[in-house]
Amino acid sequence: MIVVMQAGAEEALIDAVLERLEEHSLRGHLVRGEERTVIGVVGAAIPPTLKEELAHFGGVQETLRITQPYKLVSRELRAEDTVVDVRGVKVGAGSCVVIAGPCSVESEEQIMTTARAVREAGATMLRGGAFKPRSSPYTFRGMGEAGLKLLAQAREETGLSIVTEVMTPNDVDLVARYADVLQIGARNMQNYQLLEEVGRTGMPVLLKRGLSATIEEWLLSAEYVAAQGNPNVILCERGIRTFETATRNTLDLNAVALAKRRTHLPVLVDPSHGTGKWYLVPNMALAGIAAGADGVIIEVHPDPDRARSDGAQSLSCENFAALMPKIAAVAAAVGRQM
Ligand code: PEP
Ligand code: MN
Repeated sequence: MIVVMQAGAEEALIDAVLERLEEHSLRGHLVRGEERTVIGVVGAAIPPTLKEELAHFGGVQETLRITQPYKLVSRELRAEDTVVDVRGVKVGAGSCVVIAGPCSVESEEQIMTTARAVREAGATMLRGGAFKPRSSPYTFRGMGEAGLKLLAQAREETGLSIVTEVMTPNDVDLVARYADVLQIGARNMQNYQLLEEVGRTGMPVLLKRGLSATIEEWLLSAEYVAAQGNPNVILCERGIRTFETATRNTLDLNAVALAKRRTHLPVLVDPSHGTGKWYLVPNMALAGIAAGADGVIIEVHPDPDRARSDGAQSLSCENFAALMPKIAAVAAAVGRQM
């Protein structure tokens, strides 16, 4: 349910609503927009009479039911785009962010070379996995904390913010000490304990869509993070499983356009996992931005043929640099700032 306050309602009136919610053992999520201030009320135990009761409170314009199963992340709660601030880089609301870097952190030389190259080409953040979810237990599963230290070193030198995956609730504290954005991988999209744990950090979270998750399930997972009081969720469409096997996944651009309507959260596109083929990445990155994405996350490796994971879908540093001006051109064509 949402409580819409009258324009310019005094703080004391807002507080009175929040206090009443507390008396009902409910938590009000205050959302101050440019046009209006609303209070989101979520929980399993909203009394049936509450909507009517609060409608008569001073300063309340109206109370409305949110029709979607996800509430805090819904556009119904907040009409304006959420902007997630990552150390000064604004994700959402008219910008176009480019996150680039290797699938996995492999060595100091590899991550530093990549970080310098993507920075030089104009990327705004560096990606790289230190904890890797791999389909086979016999493949490289990441460097762990040593990889996180290398990412921090790359940030130190280049100034790029770090996006890296956390796979288990136990690792959240550790990864949070090094990362600027906590990535939840596709395989973990429905790991609800992990979602709540990253929610509690209050840090920006990049939430990838699950391999066979519906858009509604994806947004409900974002709701788990938001329900912990963390509104800093960035969604990422990374391709879904379909009957098609010619590409690794099917990049679902419908989901990008639809998610932008259903939620106020920023949405990114990952054309690397979305296609599985480096030579398809440029076209699909551009298509993602044209579809309304707030940016892209792209795998880049200085020597893709020797990458320890996802080499086939990684751009070389040169190919990434060649793509950047095209991204800028498409972003400008659809009214986004780089
Ligand atoms: C990755 O970003 O390298 C990754 C493992 O992505 P996903 O969870 O989308 O498969
Ligand atoms: Mn990868």
